[in-house]
Amino acid sequence: MQRLSARYIAGPTLADARRVVAELNAAGKLATVDVLGEEIALPEEAEAIAQAYLDVLAAIEADGLQASVSVKLTGLGLKLSLDLCRRNLETVVRDAASRNTFVRMDMEDSSTTDDTLLLFRELREAGHENVGVVLQARLRRTVADVQALADLRPSVRICKGIYLEPAGVAFQEFEAVRANFVAALDALLDAGCYVAVATHDEWLIGEALRRVQGMSPAAYELQMLLGVRESRATELVAAGHRLRVYVPFGQRWYEYSLRRLQENPKMAGYIAGDVVNRLVPGRRAS
Ligand SMILES: Cc1cc2nc3c(=O)[nH]c(=O)nc-3n(C[C@H](O)[C@H](O)[C@H](O)COP(=O)(O)OP(=O)(O)OC[C@H]3O[C@@H](n4cnc5c(N)ncnc54)[C@H](O)[C@@H]3O)c2cc1C
Repeated sequence: MQRLSARYIAGPTLADARRVVAELNAAGKLATVDVLGEEIALPEEAEAIAQAYLDVLAAIEADGLQASVSVKLTGLGLKLSLDLCRRNLETVVRDAASRNTFVRMDMEDSSTTDDTLLLFRELREAGHENVGVVLQARLRRTVADVQALADLRPSVRICKGIYLEPAGVAFQEFEAVRANFVAALDALLDAGCYVAVATHDEWLIGEALRRVQGMSPAAYELQMLLGVRESRATELVAAGHRLRVYVPFGQRWYEYSLRRLQENPKMAGYIAGDVVNRLVPGRRAS
């Protein structure tokens, strides 16, 4: 698991995240920084995560980095109390605004969707423009959620959704998730939203690129995870697209790595491939 985290996580400290984001920026890529801190049990832990985000925001400003932050509401205390989470989230969003930075509210499992959309709406209705949300193509409700949010012209990251969900709320088949992704993307573009298309699925990248053809590159962005399809990301930047890389850092690398491994068991193969690449001279790195 430690081998895994080296590839998908900037490292345990903020200094690691600063270094990785600076390298991405130098390669023309934007970043969004995630403080790993799920599964918190105490209000003080949620407050510590909020403080960690304030440190990230200060670092982004101090280093002049092209980066936003991505927050998980459970990390800010959602499962402990909605009020606690609201307070922590507002603290982060206000601080980000004072530094001209953007806050993306990650979407977690379907038990959190309503609260996440509620807090997002509250923030936007209170005049906070530097905040966006995530919708998951896996969920059956997603196109309806786009329609319900359309009055806000929200900034939305659309992704497949990483959490395994029951059939009652989520599509189970690969092609159904893809189809819903495209439907949600169309609904977002029709509603004039700023869309962040977060996928490594080449077919979906193609569908997205067809749809944004002719649009200003400032009107949308593509997003990928740190350590995944890096050469494709570089090509997309060279082709003139805005591309943002999701950069997790922190001590809680175990939960993050485990989720990625559960989602994509092929990763164990990639790790084995890395080892072979190191051992066999002349073999091309993946
Ligand atoms: C920037 C970003 C932010 C995200 N935010 C959220 C969020 O807030 N909430 C949420 O539920 N989910 C989030 N996700 C995860 C997302 O929902 C998917 O689970 C994940 O992106 C895999 O789906 P895919 O669209 O890449 O397609 P897939 O079909 O899963 O992947 C396509 C191909 O990409 C490669 N690939 C994909 N993932 C990996 C990996 N981890 N390691 C190595 N190769 C890989 C493989 O070659 C795979 O065949 C985010 C993803 C990204 C890129």
